[in-house]
Amino acid sequence: MTQSSSVNCEKFLSDLEKAFSISLNHIKVMISQFHKEMKKGLSGHESSLKMIPSLMDRPKGDEKGEFFALDLGGTNFRVLAGKLDGKRKAIVSAVSKFAIPKKDMQGTGVQLFDFIADGIDAFLTENSIDRSKVYDLAFTFSFPVEQTSLAAGKLIVWTKGFTAKGVQGQDVVELLNQALERKLIRCINVTALANDTVGTLVARSYADPTCDMGVIMGTGTNACYREKLSNIQELQSLNPKEHMIVNMEWGNFDKVRLTRYDRQVDEASVNPGAMYLEKMVSGMYLGEITRLILMDLMKRDFIFIRNPDSAEPFQKKDSFKTGDMSLIEGDETENLHEIERFLENHGISNVSLYDKTVLKRLCEMVSTRAAGLGAGAISAVVSWMDPELKDRHTVAVDGSLFEKYPGFGLKIENTFKKLYGEKAENITLVHSKDGSGKGAAIMAAVAASAAEMQKS
Ligand code: ADP
Ligand code: MG
Repeated sequence: MTQSSSVNCEKFLSDLEKAFSISLNHIKVMISQFHKEMKKGLSGHESSLKMIPSLMDRPKGDEKGEFFALDLGGTNFRVLAGKLDGKRKAIVSAVSKFAIPKKDMQGTGVQLFDFIADGIDAFLTENSIDRSKVYDLAFTFSFPVEQTSLAAGKLIVWTKGFTAKGVQGQDVVELLNQALERKLIRCINVTALANDTVGTLVARSYADPTCDMGVIMGTGTNACYREKLSNIQELQSLNPKEHMIVNMEWGNFDKVRLTRYDRQVDEASVNPGAMYLEKMVSGMYLGEITRLILMDLMKRDFIFIRNPDSAEPFQKKDSFKTGDMSLIEGDETENLHEIERFLENHGISNVSLYDKTVLKRLCEMVSTRAAGLGAGAISAVVSWMDPELKDRHTVAVDGSLFEKYPGFGLKIENTFKKLYGEKAENITLVHSKDGSGKGAAIMAAVAASAAEMQKS
């Protein structure tokens, strides 16, 4: 690289870093805009935050029983079996995970729900489950749903790349039941439907009564928290002293500052004009933002100039994954060997140390902005519940981005410290693995005990 082009590259990168940086002031503005949108959503006005009541509050910790649960995320579908001991402990005894093929995400609803039913069938067989009995099953469905009862709800709109036809506006439990019937699976009774954020909050609060917020950072991003009934317009007539978990659908928050790369990601998505926060924060999109910046640097001859074939490997949309960023940002070796090996595996050889450093900087830039926006969103919710930060708040987080991205949780916690100083100690982030599925099962147990009580 010539002297002048490396100077140009540095200038370009430092401008980008500015465009991607999130200052403390920026976060404070974001918090106040979040509060405005929350208020509008809760009072039934037009808002980028839907604020959907879940019809559930936290469990008490004494719920008991065996459970089956389904967890349909954006990338994976899991089937779980386990037990609640009635003393704040939920034990998962079996899990099967299936990657959802793109053809089933984007085909028909029948195809998608048949794929799910086939997964249940395989799980029952693998674990030698007696099909002559009937089991209660909880269904975690991680998309915006208007909950009509504990075990029924209509899909409002697909997100995260899903477009399966004939599902929007329909009751997803009904669609699941029809698929189970088509596959002659008669030992399953769907008794609860939950959003993954609500499942995550419920699972953690079964174990820990200070948990009042659930967050997902995986394929997509979303959160829920405990709200006073008196703040929810449509439910105000109920007992105002009680609480309900509200699914915010925060991925759709739109008071954000987009870069040209964010606009490109949005335009090329299946849902342009929607889910702006999700497109800047979650695993489905971070790799793609980074890829677009990388392509821009290559076009300007700022990177990989010693390798003439370097433009090939990452030409295609989504060919650079958020998991690749994890590997790159996690490379702590002196000469960045791991990054070099990664590039060689993709046919890019003869790279310089400068190339590798630049690539790592791009990943840091995109992931640090994501963590900063995530921290701003969490702070907005905690400060809404408790403006003085007087109480302890455990925030349960599920999702592979949070679990696997090096330093992601730490970056969020550092933002809390900058915002709140010592009081930040009142906010604890905990990773709740499989929380989304477990939580739905706990709801199924709550539903079963409520039904028992009504009978007796
Ligand atoms: P879902 O969102 O389907 O419930 P997960 O929580 O497991 O499932 O999230 C899967 C997403 O997490 C992937 O689509 C990808 O974007 C992201 N991801 C997977 N592996 C990694 C990794 N090593 N580092 C960062 N993100 C990852
Ligand atoms: Mg999930």
